This record gives sequence, C-alpha cells and structure tokens, in this order.
Amino acid sequence: MSSTHPSLASRTDRPRRLRVIGGGMVAHRLVEALRDRDADGTWTVDLYCEEPRAPYDRVGLTSYFSGSTPDDLLLGDGSLHDDPLVTVHLGTPVTAIDTDARTVTVDGSDEPYDALVLATGSSAFVPPVAGADLPGAFVYRTIEDVQALESWVQGLDLARPVKGVVVGGGLLGLEAAGALHGLGAEATVVEFADRLMPLQVDEGGGAALRRIVEGMGVEVRTSTATAGLHAGADGRVSSMEFADGAKVDADVVVFATGVRPRDELAREAGLVVGERGGVVVDDGCLTVAPDVYAVGEVACIHGRTWGLVGPGNTMAEVVVDRLLGGEATFPGADTSTKLKLLGVDVASFGDAFAESPGSLEVVYADPVARVYKKLVMSDDAKTLLGGVLVGDASAYASLRPMLGAELGADPNAWLLPEGGVAPPTGELPDAANVCSCNNVTAGTIRAAVCEQHCTDLGSLKACTKAGTSCGSCLPLVKNLLNAELKKSGAEVSTALCEHFAFSRAQLFDIISVTGLRTFSEIIASHGSGRGCDICRPVVASILASLGTGHVLDKDLARLQDTNDHVMANLQKDGTYSVVPRVPGGEITPAGLIAIGEVAKDFGLYTKITGGQRIDLFGARLEQLPAIWRRLVDAGFESGHAYGKAVRTVKSCVGSTWCRYGVQDSVGLAVDLELRYRGLRSPHKLKLGVSGCARECAEARGKDVGVIATDKGWNLYVGGNGGFTPRHAQLFAEDLDTEELIRTIDRFLMYYVRTADRLQRTAPWVEEHEGGLEAIQAVVLEDSLGICADLDAAMAAHVENYRDEWAATLADPEKLSQFVSFINSPESSDPDLTYVEERGQRRPATPDERHLIAGPTLEVRS
Ligand SMILES: Cc1cc2nc3c(=O)[nH]c(=O)nc-3n(C[C@H](O)[C@H](O)[C@H](O)COP(=O)(O)OP(=O)(O)OC[C@H]3O[C@@H](n4cnc5c(N)ncnc54)[C@H](O)[C@@H]3O)c2cc1C
Ligand code: SF4
Repeated sequence: MSSTHPSLASRTDRPRRLRVIGGGMVAHRLVEALRDRDADGTWTVDLYCEEPRAPYDRVGLTSYFSGSTPDDLLLGDGSLHDDPLVTVHLGTPVTAIDTDARTVTVDGSDEPYDALVLATGSSAFVPPVAGADLPGAFVYRTIEDVQALESWVQGLDLARPVKGVVVGGGLLGLEAAGALHGLGAEATVVEFADRLMPLQVDEGGGAALRRIVEGMGVEVRTSTATAGLHAGADGRVSSMEFADGAKVDADVVVFATGVRPRDELAREAGLVVGERGGVVVDDGCLTVAPDVYAVGEVACIHGRTWGLVGPGNTMAEVVVDRLLGGEATFPGADTSTKLKLLGVDVASFGDAFAESPGSLEVVYADPVARVYKKLVMSDDAKTLLGGVLVGDASAYASLRPMLGAELGADPNAWLLPEGGVAPPTGELPDAANVCSCNNVTAGTIRAAVCEQHCTDLGSLKACTKAGTSCGSCLPLVKNLLNAELKKSGAEVSTALCEHFAFSRAQLFDIISVTGLRTFSEIIASHGSGRGCDICRPVVASILASLGTGHVLDKDLARLQDTNDHVMANLQKDGTYSVVPRVPGGEITPAGLIAIGEVAKDFGLYTKITGGQRIDLFGARLEQLPAIWRRLVDAGFESGHAYGKAVRTVKSCVGSTWCRYGVQDSVGLAVDLELRYRGLRSPHKLKLGVSGCARECAEARGKDVGVIATDKGWNLYVGGNGGFTPRHAQLFAEDLDTEELIRTIDRFLMYYVRTADRLQRTAPWVEEHEGGLEAIQAVVLEDSLGICADLDAAMAAHVENYRDEWAATLADPEKLSQFVSFINSPESSDPDLTYVEERGQRRPATPDERHLIAGPTLEVRS
C-alpha cells in the first residue's frame, strides 16, 4: 500500500486536528515527539484517555508494590498538560469512529479529525474457564488492577498466609507472582507450557529460572492446564482445579495469560484487522482508511502485533514523521528484553532459540548458583546472533548492541562472572542498537552529543529517548556520552547519572558524612527518582567500602555482585572456589595440613595462586559453610578473593632467609595484609613487597608495591596486570616503616574515595587531574587538607574489621542462603561431572561428559 500523503504535506492556514485514542505509553510518546518536532504548530492534539489518569509507565507497574505511587509512574514532566496545542481528556473513552465522516464520537458528540491515531493498546486476556469472573479473580494491566489486587489481599482476614495462584508463567505472570509475594501471599504459578517464560527463554534458561523462582518460595507448576475456579460458601474464589483433576486452594487468582488488542472500535468502523486481531497497517502505520493510523500494541504490522513498548515507540516516531510530511517506514523491531522479575535478572535477545541455520550455542550453566547464560553464534562462532541470560544479566548491556557484529573475543569470555569483558564504547559501530526499547543506535547518541550538544545524561535521554524505558542500556549510554565528550575535548560531566548530580567521589563523601546506610535513604535525601543500573551498584560499592555492615545484611545483599552473595568465586562449572587468607604468603605446616585435609575431605582441586595462597576448587554452594567451619576452626579467614577488595600482599622471602635481602619483606607483607584485609574498593587491590631491588615479589606489577632499600622502603603505585598491564610508578623513596604505612593508608583511602566504579589504580592515576604528581601532593603534602580524614577512615577500617565468614557461620539467617535446592539440601547436581587428571579431579569437558558412565573418568595423557 502506498503511504505518501500529499494532503498532509501541504500546509493550510488553520492548525490541523489530530485526535489520538488511548492514553497509553505509545500515545504519550507520539504526542511528545510531535510537539517536539512540530515547531510551527501544524497540529493541535486531542488525547483521549479511557483510564482516569494521564499516561503512565505500565512497564514499571509492579514497582507499585515496592512503594511507587501512581504519580511516580506518570510519564513525562507534565509539560504536555500545559501545552496550549494539546488537550488531554482523562476518563474519556472514544465510543465510535466514522472514517467516512472523519469523526470520532466522544461523550455522545461527533468530533472531526484531520488525522486519527488508534493507540488503544491491549486488554488482559482471561481464558474462558469456569469461575474466571468470581470475586477474588484479577488481571494485571492497569493501576486500578494492582490497587484492586492489593486491597483484596490486604482485606482477607485469615489466620494463615493468603494463598495466591497466578495463571500464566510468562513475563506478566512472574511480575504478578512477584506482586503477590510482595504482599506476603504464598504464590503458585501455573504455566501451560513446559517451562517458565517460554516465549523468551529456552529450555536451559527455563530450568534455571524455575530453580530460582522456586528457591524464593514460589511454587511452579508447568505443563498444567487450568480447568476452572471454584467458589467457597461466601461466593468468593476458594480453589482452582486443573485439567488433570488436581486442585489447589486459592484465596486470590491472577490471570496473566496474555493480551488481546483493543481493536473493537476499528472493527466496528470496518477497518481491516489481522487474523489474530490488531488493526492492520502498512509500513507507514496507516490503516486502510485515509489519515487513520494505528500504533503500539493495537497495531498489526508486518503481519503481527508487538507486545513490547519498544516497537510501539518506533511506530509512534514513524507516524509523527508522516504527520509532518515525511515518509518514514517501520523498520521492524528488536524484541530483546531485560527484566528483573522477583529480583531475578532475565534477558533474551536476538535469535534466542538458535533458529538461524548453522548457528552454534555457547552455554555457561551454573546450576548451583542458578545462573544460565547462552550465546547464539554464527556457524564460524564469530558473530553474535542472540542470547539468553538468566540469574545474571550483567553482560546484557554490552552484548545486545553487538548483535550481528563479531564479538572479537572468545564467546566464553563474555559469559564468565562479572562480564569478563568491559562494555564496548569507542568501537561500537554507529548502527549498533544501544537502546532496544526506544530503538536508539550508537550513531544517534553520538550525533546527539556532537550535533545537538547534549552534554549530560539527562539531556541525552530527553533528546534521544535512550534509556527512558527499562534503563538497562544506561551504563552504555553514559560510556558513549563520555567517550564522545572526551573526543571533542569537551568537559565530561561528573554527575553519576540523572538520579544523582554528584560524582562517585562526592557521593562517597556525602554517604560517609551523613551516615546514611540504605540505597532508599540515600536516593531520597540526595538524589531523585528510583535509581538505575548506574547508581545502584555505585552506592553498593561505596557502602561496602565504608564497612557499613556485613555484605549479606538484608539491605546490602541485594546490591552485591554474584560472587559477594556467596562469598566465594563462581567457576566455569557452576561450583565455587574457596580461598582462605594467607597473609604475606606465610603459612605454618599445621595450616597447610588443615587446608590439605579440607581439600581431601571435600574432594576439592587445589592450586597455588599467583598471590601466594591456596585456591580450593569444586565446592558446591551448600558445602561452603561446612568447608569454612573447618577453615575458621583452623584459624583461617576469608581471603576476599570474590570481592572488589584488598586481595593479597605477595612477598619474597626477604632478609630473613635471602642472602641479598635488606629488609624483612615477609614481616611487612604480613602486617600490610592484616591491616588492609577486608577493605572494599572500586576494584580489586593487590600489593607486593620485595626484600631488595632484585624484585622477586614483582611488586611493581601491583597496585601498591614496596621495594626494600638500604634506608627503608621505596613505594610504587598504580601497577596493574590484566588486559592493560602497567608498571607501578615510584611514589616515595626511602620511607621508614611508619611513614610507609601512613602513606599507603592515605593512598588507598584516597583511591577508594575518588576512583570511579570499577576503575583500577592504573587508570585512576592516569586520569586523575594532575596525574601522579597531584596524588603525591594530596597524600604526601596534604594539599587538600584531607589527610586527617583519610587517616581516620583507615583507622576505622582497621578497628571495625571482622571476618565475613566467621560472622556468617554465627548467623543462621545468613547461613540459610547456602542451600542449592529448597527441598533437598543434600542433593548434588547431576550436571557436575568430573574427570581425574594429574592426581586431582577437574570438570569434564562437554566431549568427555558423553563418555562418562560413572562419576569420574580418568584422562590419559
Ligand atoms: C506489568 C507489565 C509489565 C510489562 N513489562 C514490559 C517490559 O518489561 N518491556 C516491554 O517492552 N513491555 C512491557 N510491558 C508491555 C507494555 O506495557 C506495553 O507494550 C505498552 O504499554 C503498550 O503501549 P500502548 O500505548 O500500545 O498500549 P497501552 O499502554 O495498553 O495503552 C492503551 C491505552 O488506551 C486506552 N484505551 C483503549 N481503548 C480506548 C478508547 N476507546 N478510548 C480511550 N482510551 C482507550 C486504554 O485504557 C489504555 O490506557 C508490560 C506490561 C505490563 C502490564
Ligand atoms: S627480592 Fe631480594 S630479598 Fe627478596 S628474594 Fe629476591 S633477592 Fe632476595
């Protein structure tokens, strides 16, 4: 169908009347975009909202149960309501349209239009089962729905927990289960398919998701059809029956069984609708009637309806272009999704089901940590085609824009814990889709920075709409912004994100001075909104550095990285490694024996690490407390190998044994390690001490390196290994031990306070204004007058240090997290298969697994 509209391209004297039916998310986007771009005021807009309120963030509906008010959810800044060219009609449904007379019927009167947009969205679908209309049965679509659900559950006066059943195990069903959970009800999710979220995740992802959801106390029944709801004596829902005759009690039922397009007005007006509903439109979003468009969930475009806000927003932009005389067409849509359901990260993008011919799947399954990650690659394993991430979706923001591009690294590297690979910024191609909700490419973001002078995240978001929906792309958007600003020599804003106008360093000071200890308190008093993927982890890292409590304390636990959650390092096969602290690398024979016995008794693989300690591999989640009980009893402490924290102080044997040694490097290393153990920082910290200039401890490869001299110690800082190795630079010479420790105290605390999130010491030194010299001035000459504060902060750290593992073993609530299957703490995972090699066991490769009959296979070399 042709989609050029000469009638619209030509201007007339009076403004044209655009009537938009439906005040949902997509209509809001359309009206906002039109008012932004229609500088001449070509159009006046009448927006008809059937709901009693202005357009709101339906995607964020579930946040109602975590404290967001209906007003918090409203979209935009309210300026549309003050716009003289826009009239918003609340609680005003359009009851008919007449495309011949070019009118809409509102409150019984017919109003003319020059152009009409149907943005009526969808309604929740309720399957035709008996009792679906009983009191106590709800759907989950609007603010009124969630308010009604809340008051029903709160109004039930039962002496036992409320029993809730959610019909539908998709995205909406899990959101609804989360809501019931949040209301204190017991929740059961019933899904017809054989797994949860069958449209987004594959079998492995579904299994991992099920395990996580069940682990939270939500019962899951898959491959189950609902037969009907039964009422109790009071006429309210009391139970639910399944097709196989089984029954469960139910005080409340939520149907989350999909949506149906609200195409009733279009049908009555004789517009063409799709086979499965939805108003059929062409590439320009135009229906068969002249000047009548359909956008969002009600539109059937490219033969289908789209149940996500991203494609709807793209349609809105197409229609705005058309209204202003352009010829934009709908380019198709990215159906990538990243969600946090019940606090669990789930992401699905591109060809998630590996349907492309010849595609390869790279899977990282961690049954114990309940993490499942899959990348779908082209047949040469180079190009990323899609993926599924369950339990840890931290790599999503970096991976999704790489869809269709070569990953440039071993795909496995992208799947390892902590992302393994930093988000791409500079090299990201212009065509890479950075924000899939709003269809914003890297090129658009770059152009907004360079040509439209968006120099902060807020203006960039307002201008491009990137990051304004689910927000998962924000870290990447910020990286792109900063990279472009840097390139052009412009000043890079230090504001963390739009929720905090402060840099990380300023926020650090605020939190340490005010004594605020929860994210909600901090954002309420010093930020705005609900936070995002940038500021939440930064606050978590600051709270950790300030030693505000145990990492597993309730408020802090949910902000931690996966490894911190269990205080162990997640490995490739889903088991964990355990690293007790061995200060300075010095260990007694009794200590060695104790570690050896633990390894033997628990069947752990042992390896001496580069940091001079012993790593014990292959521990299952539920074994960690027992392993640590033995280690703590033998006098060991957490080595913090899992944390962004001080890891080790490596030392050579020094003057005690070595002929060349001029100072006791081991003694100093032990003192330093005991002093700084447990110090949380923006990134891991490693130290080294060598007993003479021969440098056997490789101290200059460390963040803080100390090398003995005849007169005392030389201090070096900013040495890093990793992707971009750096030698440490000389910071101060011939210090006595007291001076040395004071200088390191200050250097470390200054770094902890002022570095960016995940910034190691080498880039911090390089990027610090004035570089190393400026840092020397602060630390050695107190140029900022903050040394007393830095000293006090380190003294507090030293005084307040407690071993995390000993504290965990003494706290039953914290220990309760170390259970891999909720009903069976003893069960081990059948996916964990080992082979014996060089006298120890290691995880089997996929090929070896096929050959294994028993639990252990020997590999011959
Ligand atoms: C709990 C929940 C979570 C979600 N999570 C995500 C997510 O993470 N990511 C994602 O992409 N999508 C998500 N969605 C889907 C997303 O909300 C929708 O795709 C999006 O809201 C569609 O926008 P729309 O404007 O087309 O329709 P809607 O938002 O449904 O708006 C349509 C509006 O039109 C009104 N209307 C209908 N008929 C008339 C009439 N005759 N007269 C006047 N007004 C009328 C309706 O009352 C409604 O207010 C979620 C949805 C829900 C319910
Ligand atoms: S650095 Fe010097 S003191 Fe230390 S082991 Fe090497 S030679 Fe000996």
